[in-house]
Amino acid sequence: MSESDRVIIVGGGPVGLFSAIRLTGFGIPVTLIEKALIVSDDIRASTIHPPTLEMLAPYGVTTEILENGIRVPQWQIRDHATGEKAVFDLGLIAEETDYPFRVQFEQAKICEIIDAKLRNEPLADLRYGMEMLSADQDDDGVRVRAKGEDAEEVLRGRYLIAADGGNSTIREQLGLAFEGSMYPERSVLVTTPFAFDEHIEGLSPVSYCWEANGNFSLLQLPGRWRASLYFPGELTPEEALADDRIERQLQDICPSAMPYEISDKRVYRVHQRIVPRYDHGRIVLAGDAAHLNSPSGGMGMNGGLHDAHNLTEKINEAWQGGDHLALFALYSRQRKKIAEEQIIKQADQNRKRMTEKDPAKRRKSLAEMQGIADDPARCKAFLMRSSMIEGLRQAAAIT
Ligand SMILES: Cc1cc2nc3c(=O)[nH]c(=O)nc-3n(C[C@H](O)[C@H](O)[C@H](O)COP(=O)(O)OP(=O)(O)OC[C@H]3O[C@@H](n4cnc5c(N)ncnc54)[C@H](O)[C@@H]3O)c2cc1C
Repeated sequence: MSESDRVIIVGGGPVGLFSAIRLTGFGIPVTLIEKALIVSDDIRASTIHPPTLEMLAPYGVTTEILENGIRVPQWQIRDHATGEKAVFDLGLIAEETDYPFRVQFEQAKICEIIDAKLRNEPLADLRYGMEMLSADQDDDGVRVRAKGEDAEEVLRGRYLIAADGGNSTIREQLGLAFEGSMYPERSVLVTTPFAFDEHIEGLSPVSYCWEANGNFSLLQLPGRWRASLYFPGELTPEEALADDRIERQLQDICPSAMPYEISDKRVYRVHQRIVPRYDHGRIVLAGDAAHLNSPSGGMGMNGGLHDAHNLTEKINEAWQGGDHLALFALYSRQRKKIAEEQIIKQADQNRKRMTEKDPAKRRKSLAEMQGIADDPARCKAFLMRSSMIEGLRQAAAIT
């Protein structure tokens, strides 16, 4: 096999790592370049939807996720002051998936599991601590200039997957517009070992909540909870992250005699954006490099993994002699439509619902959501969308 007979993947986040394990599974060699020295342990995505569990299963990743994560058969939207809630039961989609639940498990741990498996894979060449500087292509393949610890190197491959995240250098070098907008508000994300479920009656491990001054979500993780807190517009990120401010916000949510123990904290800002197309000859974008959405509903990482699943299938067909231009164009048509019409749209609706402050509109919205939750046919249809199954089926029907 020549040095250029491989796929180059830029980015060792969930999308790059999953692409690598998929391609090596097809017998295709990969070189993965990641500028960080190790897998990132940032608190980011924490929810895994049913179809993603199906996609990760053949690689033994789902077994480890199920052993260590928290299964969530029901999630909820609640009015924190009154405790009124709409509860969505994924049991209603049991005929549609082997995994009728969400699993709460950290993105960083998914990456660690895949990374560990790839280290035993002879077809995977993992280059941590190597930054891609530029990429170009000709009729025969792609060429990547990258910088390691001490020297620059030029790598050649047949195709290039740009999984280099929201600030993608490849997207920039291709001169692609990243159309969309930045949401005005920020959120404060903290994790704490405080067991909210032992103090708030009927709380689900995934709960999206309204409170008097704003909204928050409480998502359970193994051994801790991740709280996404309202960020008052007048504060700077430093002020919002001040220990006493976080303590007050958490005490307002759930009074505790002991001060809250905080393990991680960060402020994040959310965008909704997408590139005009994902395929650019032999260079193809996937995950956050191609699209960004509000995290409300937990679809960002999942959608990126679905991109990787679809794209690697197309690369495998091209590897067997298929027309890569036609295959990658199909990938772009299939995944872009779903990103726009399902993922970005639903995430935006979820965000709008939860950031609503008018009490009358909130009551109306809660009543609507309760109406859906209590009607099995409508609830199933809603869960097929929010669990990302409908989007995948729609994508598969696009030719
Ligand atoms: C605070 C927060 C909460 C979130 N919550 C959720 C959630 O609940 N559910 C959900 O589904 N999604 C969530 N997301 C979104 C999710 O984290 C992303 O969608 C996911 O990380 C995208 O994966 P990726 O592999 O495309 O990009 P990334 O994870 O960003 O990975 C890109 C990688 O590329 C590397 N890289 C970049 N440039 C170069 C270069 N030039 N050379 C080499 N390497 C490079 C970076 O170091 C990085 O490791 C959240 C995001 C944030 C920020």
